[in-house]
Amino acid sequence: MLPRPRGIVFSRIQQLVLLAATLLLLTINLSAEPTHSNVVCREELSEAHRDQLASKLRRITGWPGLKFDRSGFLRRGNAEPVGGSQTARDLVAKAIYGSQVVVLEDASKHPDVAFCRVLPGKWKNHSSNNLPAHVVQIDFADFEQVLGDERALDAFNVGWGLLHEFDHIVEDSRDAMSLDETGECEAHINQMRRECDLPERAHYFYTLLPLSTETAFTTRLVRLAFDQEQPSGNKKKRYWVLWDANVVGGLDLQRQIASLR
Ligand SMILES: [Zn+2]
Repeated sequence: MLPRPRGIVFSRIQQLVLLAATLLLLTINLSAEPTHSNVVCREELSEAHRDQLASKLRRITGWPGLKFDRSGFLRRGNAEPVGGSQTARDLVAKAIYGSQVVVLEDASKHPDVAFCRVLPGKWKNHSSNNLPAHVVQIDFADFEQVLGDERALDAFNVGWGLLHEFDHIVEDSRDAMSLDETGECEAHINQMRRECDLPERAHYFYTLLPLSTETAFTTRLVRLAFDQEQPSGNKKKRYWVLWDANVVGGLDLQRQIASLR
């Protein structure tokens, strides 16, 4: 038997190194974030509000690297999720990588926007290649008006508001039409709240605080309930958020729906 040439031993090591490097590159590629994003901020949406949105979404999705890039596009980042809701991650991923474009607009203090709403977007240049577009208007000032139990406030903030609108766009889900249901859209959002160990929204529509009176000149305090199953026993614990509907708006729609009953 001839002695094995040294070069072969060396090249085997090289092969192994090459194989290891290829596997490493494959792993990096598999977890790398795709380059495009279909969720973008309008230029006027301030850095502070972008940070606020991203920070709420990081907490809900558990993606530590989620942020808006320098051009205003929402990025989930490459880091693996830590905690958070899988259902929320699926929804955000569908919004970012789906077949629709979502533009985020600051509608703070807009009289027609109570918290958030979504409107159909229009392209300036008409082309059959244009993806369907939507504009999500966010009233950051409305969220600052909300008071209440800490756990309910964690389940009702600007991040949850944006996810609610994403769900309308991506899943074509509907809101409740009667006072005693949460509606298809909020049912999806409640699943995410459960996965984040947060209380669930009990109703879609808010109700007038019992002590408030219906006059044109006073504050009109309204409230919304959030329920969470307690680990000990089968009782649910109820948490509240409340706000002045005269400041936030949305009373007209609420009246219309209430009159359907
Ligand atoms: Zn809705």
